[in-house]
Amino acid sequence: MTVSQLAKSIAESPTLKLNEEARLLREKGEAVIHLGAGEPKNRAPISAILSSAAKLNTGDVKYTPADGTPSLKKAIIKYTEENYDKVVAPENIIVSAGAKQSVYNILYTILNPQDEVIILAPYWVSYPEMVRMVYGVPVIVTPEDGGFHPRMEDIMKAVSSYTKAIIINSPNNPSGVVYSEEFIAQIIEYCEKKGIYIVMDDIYHKLVFDGKKWPACYRFTKKDIESSHIIVVNGVSKLYGMTGFRIGWAIAPRELITIMTNVQGQITTTTSVLLQAAAEGALTGLQSHIETLRMTLENNRDVMMQELNSFSGVKITKPNGTYYCLPYFRAYSNDSIKLSQLLLKKALVVTVPGKEFGMEGHLCLSYAGSIKEVTEVVARIKWALDPNSPNEIYVGDRKLVRDWK
Ligand code: PMP
Repeated sequence: MTVSQLAKSIAESPTLKLNEEARLLREKGEAVIHLGAGEPKNRAPISAILSSAAKLNTGDVKYTPADGTPSLKKAIIKYTEENYDKVVAPENIIVSAGAKQSVYNILYTILNPQDEVIILAPYWVSYPEMVRMVYGVPVIVTPEDGGFHPRMEDIMKAVSSYTKAIIINSPNNPSGVVYSEEFIAQIIEYCEKKGIYIVMDDIYHKLVFDGKKWPACYRFTKKDIESSHIIVVNGVSKLYGMTGFRIGWAIAPRELITIMTNVQGQITTTTSVLLQAAAEGALTGLQSHIETLRMTLENNRDVMMQELNSFSGVKITKPNGTYYCLPYFRAYSNDSIKLSQLLLKKALVVTVPGKEFGMEGHLCLSYAGSIKEVTEVVARIKWALDPNSPNEIYVGDRKLVRDWK
């Protein structure tokens, strides 16, 4: 069977693969702890469910405009005004099947073959593959100081005449780091001067801890929305516990949105009207559960830090947001893929190998579950890696036996 070279070279999403492996183990009755490949545990808001159910009850479930329903766009305009202090027009918005499709549509719309996109390590696993899927070239920039916060000097060294865009994701998946206001101001000024698009993936923007502030991007540009190179991506997955609803959006100059709409119109037409109704319900309903989620995560993060700090050999940078952290496990293994596999098979915990995020030696751990799950995850990892641990432990009534070195 012949298939395209490019399609063949695209890697399976490691997080989706781990979801599946964990699901299969669970099906066999194993007590796997999977704190989620980026999924908050909270249920969708009731306002989302009612809004979607009301639409379903009408039986009038048809195509919507390719760029989204006018009423959802209205809710996104209000959201943007409240959270970004920016007034945008309906023509500046496109609704997609998740923030993921928004990012892909943006890349498809702005890149010519061989154009380069700067991706800051550690990065979300899908960015490099998506750039390659539209014949672009991902240019990975890793902070030379060994940290997780990008540095202007490293980025400037990587910029070439082919650089078309840079993707900024803060709060960051997988490190949990929130980029400084100073950095956001500098990168926007630099890119706008050079005519480089700045794709702001803001999907975790309200999940920030320790009283820190997330800097909304538009205040760092003097340009208006139509001439700015800023493109914002956001959605309901991460803040509203609505990953399965698949609603995200992009905000950009109308010229780009028109082309993105043509592209999307030829691929998916639009995303489901029922799910758009749900997203509208979430955005216009009570918002207090986001703060509840944020506080729960901050508390979980504190417990995770406490547990990891007492784990000899493991180094950890305290995350200031999201539901991820990226501890350094090189004292135990140089190969994060093998280490992650060992922990899944032997200790029944899901971790994501740092190599997938451009940071070998690290493992991404989520603290999106309950405190009990968070402490249990670290306890099982300690048991699996510490040679002085007892040979056997019990997980419920299941005995885990250390049969490796
Ligand atoms: N951006 C980042 C940084 C993410 O972590 C994710 C999901 N893991 C997405 C985008 C995609 O979000 P959605 O579910 O809206 O497609």
